[in-house]
Amino acid sequence: MITKVIDNLYKIDVPLPKNPLKSTNSYILVSQDRNLVIDTGMNRKECFTALKAAFEELALDLSMTDFFITHLHADHGGLVSEFITPTSKVYCSEKDSYIINLGRDEGYWGRTKNFLRQNGFPEEILAEAINNHPGYKYCARVPLDFVILKEDDALDIGDYHFKVISTPGHTEGHLCLYEPYKKLFFSGDHLLNDITPNISLFAEKLNPLQQYLKSLDKISQLDISLVLPGHRRIFTDYQERIKELKLHHKIRTQEVLDILGRQALNGYQVSSRMTWDLTYKTFEEFPVQQKWFATGEGLAHIKYLIDQGLVERTEVDGMYLYKCKCVSV
Ligand SMILES: [Zn+2]
Repeated sequence: MITKVIDNLYKIDVPLPKNPLKSTNSYILVSQDRNLVIDTGMNRKECFTALKAAFEELALDLSMTDFFITHLHADHGGLVSEFITPTSKVYCSEKDSYIINLGRDEGYWGRTKNFLRQNGFPEEILAEAINNHPGYKYCARVPLDFVILKEDDALDIGDYHFKVISTPGHTEGHLCLYEPYKKLFFSGDHLLNDITPNISLFAEKLNPLQQYLKSLDKISQLDISLVLPGHRRIFTDYQERIKELKLHHKIRTQEVLDILGRQALNGYQVSSRMTWDLTYKTFEEFPVQQKWFATGEGLAHIKYLIDQGLVERTEVDGMYLYKCKCVSV
């Protein structure tokens, strides 16, 4: 479905069947010289059909079209490889483009798998979790020849004069586009209104929640009239949403601290005890993929608490165990 947002700017609902996200928003900016597509959807048939139909309806000349990928996740950049032409540029951050180009690299997925294993994710569903992971299943055909963008870079498309805003957290290299004259903000998955962006830890050294909260503060300094997110509805009241998201993570962090205040647990066990806004009665009933993302989210909150000095990690036979510093075990 194509919705005209304002002059020369269209939103396409790219469907994501059997995915709780429901759809990805792909935005198309049309101008006399170059067009810009912001995010694409997954590299799967349903997304391809929807985006192709939209391009045809708008009579978009793909040889005059560039692509901006907000972040590495397959529901944003997976499909780009199917539409680029030899004259198309594909913009992304250095960190996220690097991971996109790893594609199904065994070493990369092996390290991720091992990190989850060390955090108690059940061995018997690990392979299934990877094989069904959207980033593995619906990734772009790689390698892609990215044009790297970073904080404060300018990107001009017709009457639109964008400034690149680096917003690490949802992914380490997440980028947003800000148009200061029209006060538009393409937020990717940094700022969503109807759902909460997933903040997950899948690698040892990062602290994505800390990065995310800092990136929220950064956005609150901008003067924005319209937020164009990667999923669900376009919205205006971003300051209120930032406050809600910060409160959400404060409550989640406290919940994890309370869980670890009772006993030492691994990351999977912590996640299984957290409250989740899903329609399953128990954590055990969650589909494998939801268990995977829940574990990543639990670990992001645990890591945040470790770096705050409130939780400590111990290692027993290569497995990690976490406990609140207030507990003696
Ligand atoms: Zn997304």
